[in-house]
Amino acid sequence: MEKIKTFTLPKLPYDYNALAPYISEEQLKLHHDKHHQAYVNGANAIFEKIDKAHQENAALDIKAVAKELSFHIGGHLLHTTFWENMAPAGKSGGGQPGGAVADMINMGFGSFEQFKKQFTLAATSTEGSGWAALAAHTCIGRPLIMQIEKHNVNVFPNFQILMALDVWEHAYYLDYKNDRAKFVEAFWNLVNWDKVNKNLSLVK
Ligand code: MN
Repeated sequence: MEKIKTFTLPKLPYDYNALAPYISEEQLKLHHDKHHQAYVNGANAIFEKIDKAHQENAALDIKAVAKELSFHIGGHLLHTTFWENMAPAGKSGGGQPGGAVADMINMGFGSFEQFKKQFTLAATSTEGSGWAALAAHTCIGRPLIMQIEKHNVNVFPNFQILMALDVWEHAYYLDYKNDRAKFVEAFWNLVNWDKVNKNLSLVK
């Protein structure tokens, strides 16, 4: 850590229309350009407030700041993971995992089908706005499913997130209206298992 930085909205690793028909161009553009950008802006505004207070040796309502920051940082980092763990269907997206992810899923869940069922259930049953995520840590030697509320509640500290699925209404409302289950089903056509394998190699 040598230099203080702020967040920038990452470019999507594919075109806005690349995930259609499962996620439409309009839906993806709105989600990335407006919603994800809002979390980037939200975090940066708080960084600015923190830096100013520190420079001026001024008081800071750290309780409020930490809570708000956790929401926006979670939002930014989860969206970044989400974009990267998807790819155009039939190219790098969809199908079943291979390599170490396949082995880990079989070990942790018994079968890919069982994992898919559990992850789908976590996603569809998230109360209000949140995420389903697959995470792992060597301290328990297995993967676990997180059901994250908002962007930051029920997160296991220090676990590596291998893949994430956004189930906020803003992720699917244009394409699927209120049918979250249909969106979750569509997501399986887009999972970039190569990227999930890369994330697994980062597990400590
Ligand atoms: Mn979102």
